Amino acid sequence: MERTDHVFPEVTLRLPGWVGELSSGADRRYRTLEDRMRFVVELSRLNVRNGTGGPFGAAIFERETGRLLAPGVNLVVGSGCSVFHAEMVAVMVAQKVLGTFDLGGEGLPPYELVASTEPCAMCLGATPWSGVRHLVCGARDEDARAVGFDEGAKMAEWAGALEDRGISVELGVLREEAVAVLQEYAALGGEIYNSRRGGGSP
Ligand SMILES: [Zn+2]
Repeated sequence: MERTDHVFPEVTLRLPGWVGELSSGADRRYRTLEDRMRFVVELSRLNVRNGTGGPFGAAIFERETGRLLAPGVNLVVGSGCSVFHAEMVAVMVAQKVLGTFDLGGEGLPPYELVASTEPCAMCLGATPWSGVRHLVCGARDEDARAVGFDEGAKMAEWAGALEDRGISVELGVLREEAVAVLQEYAALGGEIYNSRRGGGSP
């Protein structure tokens, strides 16, 4: 992008319009982990079908009530931004909604990050800094790798490392439904971006 001296462009993050439609109903509650994962997998599926990004969805819920705080989808290709993974988008939107960088701040209820696929190295690193207290994942790391995505360099015991920081982790929730979207994307010949090492990232 063109720039004048010492003036750089603003970076903006905008969710596709269909995400708002899917998320409508302010009083809606996603009571169970499966309810929350079903919503997130639907985000990933519609992101592919609407051509707005990669096959990844995420959302942040109030742990106790199941109220949706913020949805997120992968926006890497459309926005030209490598960090706009679904989890990062959900965190950024959530923090904008609450007006704070810390979702674990004083006076706030515990928040839960639900992701259609286990986080890549970047999103894993960002999870503790976000302030969420719980992480729930659908498709497993190896499911993402199986269709060509690269999860990056993650320590083998990453879930335990999060637990050590006080963040509970639940893996494999509605795994088959989440994997089906990854496979649909691959079957459609979807772009596997950042493929210098043979795979893109969630
Ligand atoms: Zn990621």
